[in-house]
Amino acid sequence: MDNQLIVIGGGASGLMAAITAAKNGGKVTVLEHNEKPGRKLLATGNGKCNLTNLDLSASHYRGGASRLTERIFSAFTNMDAIAFFQGIGLKTLDRNGWVYPYTEQASQVLRLLLLEAEKYRVKIKSRERVTAVIPRDGRFLVSTPAWTYEADHVIIATGSPASAVRGASGDAIQFARALHIETVPFLPALVPLRIREDVTNRWAGTRVHASVSLYIDAAFTASDTGEVQLTDFGISGIPVFQVSRYAADGISRGRKVSAVLDFMPDVSEEDLADDLKKRAALRPGSPFQELLTGLLPDKLTALFGGRTDHVSENTSSRNGRDYFLETARHIKRYTVTIAGTASIKQAQICSGGIPAEELTDHLECRKIPGLYFAGEAVDVDGECGGYNLQWAWSSGYVAGISCLTPSTAHDQKGDTK
Ligand SMILES: Cc1cc2nc3c(=O)[nH]c(=O)nc-3n(C[C@H](O)[C@H](O)[C@H](O)COP(=O)(O)OP(=O)(O)OC[C@H]3O[C@@H](n4cnc5c(N)ncnc54)[C@H](O)[C@@H]3O)c2cc1C
Repeated sequence: MDNQLIVIGGGASGLMAAITAAKNGGKVTVLEHNEKPGRKLLATGNGKCNLTNLDLSASHYRGGASRLTERIFSAFTNMDAIAFFQGIGLKTLDRNGWVYPYTEQASQVLRLLLLEAEKYRVKIKSRERVTAVIPRDGRFLVSTPAWTYEADHVIIATGSPASAVRGASGDAIQFARALHIETVPFLPALVPLRIREDVTNRWAGTRVHASVSLYIDAAFTASDTGEVQLTDFGISGIPVFQVSRYAADGISRGRKVSAVLDFMPDVSEEDLADDLKKRAALRPGSPFQELLTGLLPDKLTALFGGRTDHVSENTSSRNGRDYFLETARHIKRYTVTIAGTASIKQAQICSGGIPAEELTDHLECRKIPGLYFAGEAVDVDGECGGYNLQWAWSSGYVAGISCLTPSTAHDQKGDTK
């Protein structure tokens, strides 16, 4: 068999697949829709590119493909990714386990990948949007508006429609459907969330250390803690991103989705109530809102301290109600109803794509030998922290090496990197 490989999509996973295959004797052509490859890569990590994470395991991934992710990561680990990048000249930087290029420039990651592709004679054809993949007599026809290419193997690495980056597309699903391969719809993940409550104009522009716990039909589903951004449409920031794929999934299934925000996650309700009482003793007769000054950002002191009465340490026993405990609860269990996600253009990734059941452990399509999927086109979505690029590197590597030598690919790992 000849080793003509077409990689559709010149993003993170496609470039890794192309380099790996070319290094191992493949004749590789990358067809890229944009005028230049790697546009989304340039946008990663706010232009700094969080390449991978030192704490890698399948538990950081969702999408019901944990066995597949384990197999793929055992073939190409985070350490393999770091060694690969260092091997092509990229000095790396560890920020609490989140790994970046030392220069913190995504553009340099892309530049080195393109130099490596050039070194192994990968042909990159830009402005080529693939419109169809047709299996024919054990080979493939790959059509663009201008041309029809032929190949022995094809890797679909077209990513997902997430982000406003030009070229982002859901084409993997269109190709798969045309080939009678099951798909899971792309849904935004790592995305801000919109809320129903009429509170956003009061808190917009606030950043606060908080935890976000997501409930679907009142059942606890996921939570995360960190800097939450309170926006004019809802909530954002990394903790919101981390739980957002569950919210998108719940909403798409018509479930009631809510989030409980804990604006003082490091303190118990009782301790917070005690603290408020001490504050009342410190400033008897102060407006209630002042008790919160020094504890919460301004807009939240106004939100939670909106009572008009003045307080004393005896306030708590007034009318038999424990005002301090009530306020502490309000601060620690502020519940909002999730109306939906922000637009897919604001998402960093998507859940959905080609499910694990359709793929072998080498990412080859079970129904169509010779056809592979890599990167976000596969129904695997990772948390924030370099996990999605690591999936792109690992899945790109496995698809790139397996398409040339399907049965022995993983055994050859040591010789081929
Ligand atoms: C703003 C932002 C920040 C991010 N930051 C990080 C981060 O710091 N760390 C991290 O791990 N992940 C991050 N991600 C996620 C990460 O960028 C993606 O998971 C990763 O790029 C996916 O790689 P891929 O190869 O599957 O897809 P892509 O990198 O999107 O590549 C797909 C390529 O296919 C091309 N294409 C699409 N359709 C066609 C077609 N029909 N024909 C030809 N070409 C086509 C596209 O133009 C694109 O170049 C971020 C994403 C965004 C949007």
